[in-house]
Amino acid sequence: MHAVEVPGIVVLSGNDGQQGVRLMDFEQVAQWLRESQRAVAFTGAGISTESGIPDFRSPGGVWARNKPVYYDEFLANAESRQEYWRQKSEAHVDFAGSVPNVGHGVLASWEQNRILQGVITQNIDGLHQDAGSRRVIELHGTARFVDCLSCARRYEVDQMVERFQATGNPPTCDDCGGITKHATISFGQQLQPQIVDEATSLSRSADVMLAIGSSLVVEPAASLPRIAQAAGARLVILNRDETPLDHLADQVIRRSIGESLREINKILGT
Ligand SMILES: [Zn+2]
Repeated sequence: MHAVEVPGIVVLSGNDGQQGVRLMDFEQVAQWLRESQRAVAFTGAGISTESGIPDFRSPGGVWARNKPVYYDEFLANAESRQEYWRQKSEAHVDFAGSVPNVGHGVLASWEQNRILQGVITQNIDGLHQDAGSRRVIELHGTARFVDCLSCARRYEVDQMVERFQATGNPPTCDDCGGITKHATISFGQQLQPQIVDEATSLSRSADVMLAIGSSLVVEPAASLPRIAQAAGARLVILNRDETPLDHLADQVIRRSIGESLREINKILGT
């Protein structure tokens, strides 16, 4: 197989020599969703790049420009906290003003129509919730909030970034003076076990697993679709690029995620 570039979208030349995504591929996915009782979506950066949010790991992304601050460094010294807040304030600009796109919207409507059980996401941008999704399991936390590491008080991110920009110092907790940090999982920080457990059990109970916009390389992203499939789910991968799990999938659609979801949704007629 090889990818063929056409204006705006990447299409796949399949083994049968047919080019592009065939309507029957979308119909097949729609059919599985119609038949399913417990479909689950797993999403990665690819669904949000269509909202203009850069993939942090991509060239030009925030981690290509900056040396990440590891969690133990953050805890250990004030200089690292300063650098962390500088980077986070810079990254905050990437999020500001971003709105959900059609892909987020379709997933939210499927949840409301009981087609989808919920969304597991690697994203920290909160756009699934903005689109109306209710059950969102955020593996890497959320950039929408800042937490006090001492008393767990939670703050809206905007006010804390403003405080950092105004004073040049990492903001401390109003209640206890504790260290504050974005409610995201940092480099070198463990994922929260209860979140991983919830994602794992939702995956295990799925009868259709839609893996959307994830390169499926980072753990546990690489494992959740496998867990779902091992437990009997059909695995559908929607991503512009190849993934290491493509050979396992029941259906792979390499195309703009928003367009793919819109096509499937059109067939479902929700
Ligand atoms: Zn506190």
